[in-house]
Amino acid sequence: MINLYDYEIKKLEELMLSIGQKKYRATQLFKWIYEKRVTDFNLMSDISKSFITELNEKFCLDIPKIYKKQVSQDGTIKLLLELKDKSKVETVLMRYNYGNVACVSSQVGCNMGCAFCASGLFKKQRNLDTSELIGQILVLDNLLKETNERVSHVVVMGTGEPFDNYENVLSFIRILNHPYGFAIGARHITVSTCGIVEKIRQYANEGLQINLAISLHAPNNEIRNKIMAINHKYPLEELMEAVKYYEKTASRRVTFEYILLSDVNDSKECAIELANLIKGTLAYVNLIPFNPVNELKYKRSSGNRVHEFMDILMKRGINCTIRKEFGTDIDAACGQLRAKNEKEAL
Ligand code: SAH
Repeated sequence: MINLYDYEIKKLEELMLSIGQKKYRATQLFKWIYEKRVTDFNLMSDISKSFITELNEKFCLDIPKIYKKQVSQDGTIKLLLELKDKSKVETVLMRYNYGNVACVSSQVGCNMGCAFCASGLFKKQRNLDTSELIGQILVLDNLLKETNERVSHVVVMGTGEPFDNYENVLSFIRILNHPYGFAIGARHITVSTCGIVEKIRQYANEGLQINLAISLHAPNNEIRNKIMAINHKYPLEELMEAVKYYEKTASRRVTFEYILLSDVNDSKECAIELANLIKGTLAYVNLIPFNPVNELKYKRSSGNRVHEFMDILMKRGINCTIRKEFGTDIDAACGQLRAKNEKEAL
């Protein structure tokens, strides 16, 4: 069975042509499955009986199942979803005052090996298909239906490295952004990467207006090498060159994410070094309070440290914000719910 959620509109047009249908079928199907959210081909009233029979025979509209659901006091919903091969991935819905933000996973497990991240406790098993990325939004939208709401913003910041699953993530983004798809504005979509340099350059050339966030987390190679394995492959000099290329080519600025880890990367010297590192870019910094992970030795920086760090950056003309925390009562740190579930299963 072919899952229609795997196809962005261009690919669906090709698929339609390849089975002897007209190209416009793709638009028709997009409107039914995303605009109207119809999942039963028999209800697609402007489609001929014979094509409906073919759709029922060859195509499906499958989405992941909810395996576990946690709801936080602040309204955050954390789901552990079960995929068709029984793999589990996490999806989170955060309630910001400006909208419903879905944080989606892009891979089962992750190979990037960041020392502070719970997702990396389990190696990558595979990439998620486009339909599994789309499915995460559809599952959340189904939950939100009760209150007549939908996901309004998407961040690809769950488990996995999106640029290590480039094609599927890009198809996903195009479906989110398409007017007959989810019609979510490009500025409401963010992809976060640990810094795969050639993919940042490729992404710069896509002509998309999607937000790009870079997990920086250190102001120099010495510290970054210790906490982010990817830095051995793409040291800061190369990463910063790619960021500048992106800014120039896409005419967009990036966000640098910086987790403050007590006594690792949160000193005044680090703040000054960070300001100097990014001075030549248009970027701003999102300071992230570390979400403690039981298995890991890191501690979060004190509130004072965080504010001192921020002051130093601001005084040097670097815009920065402190990330609001959600769902701290429900294993909301990246990959924690899945990690807990995998451990229980051992
Ligand atoms: N692989 C991508 C996207 C997934 S991680 C990336 O590296 O950007 C999404 C963000 O969560 C990254 O900035 C990551 O560094 C951060 N993160 C991971 N573990 C965390 C933790 N325990 N506390 C706070 N942020 C964390």
